[in-house]
Amino acid sequence: MTTNPKYIFVTGGVSSSLGKGIIAASLAKLLQAQGYRATIQKLDPYINIDPGTLNPYEHGECYVTDDGAETDLDLGHYERFLNVPTSQANNVTTGRIYQSVIDKERRGEFLGKTVQVIPHITDEIKRRIQILGNSGDYDIVITEIGGTVGDIESLPYIEAVRQLEWDLGEHNTCVIHLTLVPYLSAAGELKTKPTQHSVKTLMESGVQADILVCRTEHPLSDGIKTKLARFCNVKKEAVIESIDASTIYDVPNLMLEEGLDKVVLNQLQLKSDVPDLRRWNEFLKRHKNPKSEVTIGLIGKYVELQDSYKSILESFIHAGAENEVKVNVEPIHSEYLSQSNIEFKLGHLDGVLVAPGFGERGIEGKIDAVRFVREQNIPFLGICLGMQMAVIEYARNVLNLKDANSVEMDERTPDPVINLMASQKGVVNKGGTMRLGTWDCNIEKDSIAYKVYKTDTITERHRHRFEFNNEYKAQFEKAGMKATGLNPETGLVEIVEIPANDWFVGVQYHPEYKSTVKSPHPLFVAFVGAALKYKKKKK
Ligand code: GLN
Repeated sequence: MTTNPKYIFVTGGVSSSLGKGIIAASLAKLLQAQGYRATIQKLDPYINIDPGTLNPYEHGECYVTDDGAETDLDLGHYERFLNVPTSQANNVTTGRIYQSVIDKERRGEFLGKTVQVIPHITDEIKRRIQILGNSGDYDIVITEIGGTVGDIESLPYIEAVRQLEWDLGEHNTCVIHLTLVPYLSAAGELKTKPTQHSVKTLMESGVQADILVCRTEHPLSDGIKTKLARFCNVKKEAVIESIDASTIYDVPNLMLEEGLDKVVLNQLQLKSDVPDLRRWNEFLKRHKNPKSEVTIGLIGKYVELQDSYKSILESFIHAGAENEVKVNVEPIHSEYLSQSNIEFKLGHLDGVLVAPGFGERGIEGKIDAVRFVREQNIPFLGICLGMQMAVIEYARNVLNLKDANSVEMDERTPDPVINLMASQKGVVNKGGTMRLGTWDCNIEKDSIAYKVYKTDTITERHRHRFEFNNEYKAQFEKAGMKATGLNPETGLVEIVEIPANDWFVGVQYHPEYKSTVKSPHPLFVAFVGAALKYKKKKK
């Protein structure tokens, strides 16, 4: 095992959305499966300090780590593939880089000097890349550079890579360039020119790609591989085909067949071995051979964009495999739900998940949905805002508090059953100020949650400003909605359940951030199990 950490950089060319995150995660998986301690980092070239303030339509889901960092959704893939937690150090944006350099300047750390992109910004990028390597926790650090080469905003990152290659010396770094090899149906041909130009653009910044990973809809012939190798100046075995896969979880095996791990380890002068993917393949087998299926409604307001609820969708894949069930997730837009169409839209479902979210749009539809599933005894899982909606629905329709609401939606509601957390009062800045990251929760023994987790203390990740208003707790419990999970220090309600129903659970936290291939989240596993039971009963 090496003592000097090695660095792998993943850049992208030709087009965005080629799946650098999945390639990075798949490579890391192969390295991990050979005994290497690998981690992945994402550098994002935008100026927001983090994606926490971005609309999910703009950037997909905001993923939250244990240490409360609001990060790019690729970190979710890293954790799901590797089953190793990430942290703030795994996601850095241009905004964060500039902020630290400017803070240093204000503190006088550059006194007398002109502060410039080179060397000050590039030094800060290099420092951020090496933080993970210097921690001693990893043998290999994979750094994914967001954006596409040739973008103005990526330039300082590419320059930092160029310098690091020089600083660290031969065989300590490796550059993987992910490109697209398009198929022109009119010509009936795969085209290599965009890749050649992209590699050339990278070279103009002084970086020679060592390995090309080529996204393609058709297999690359030997001739195409030779052509790419010759004109892009890489070894032939370093031209890796990345053909479209039916599931992202196939990619590690596809990369193994292409020998990506071998070429990388060879370049880094590290020993290569046969990766132990037994567990991974066991999961794949279950995922691909379901014994039955269930349909679960995902009710949210960003459902048009797959990436908005990425971790929830992936959690269903893990939980489905665990139950040997295919989970069909039916996205349902909460804005178009009303009393009049609810039965038509939800009546056929085996389970309903009401998604996290912010703001007023679409919430009445979510409340109507909760009422329907509660009354029909359809398995229900409410996450964060989804749990808050379940509380509001119960207040309005069972406690008869007709105007009950969350103060997020109606500041003057007579019955603020969901209230702003005391710690949030006076918070004016929007960025990074929610209750974030891991917090403890104590679970009541007599509850679904206890059966699910099989323990009375858990830690889960959070991202919220509002909470269940404990002034109403006795009233709710008397009427039949129980708080079965509480934060031990503050009494904040983390879990609510309706014991009279078969499976009705709302959680203030986000279980979806902790589900991985190796450890499917127990709450999702139990929810899918409940949906299956409900479906069988229905027949
Ligand atoms: N908007 C709600 C809050 O801030 C819920 C947040 C969420 O669903 N992540 O408490």
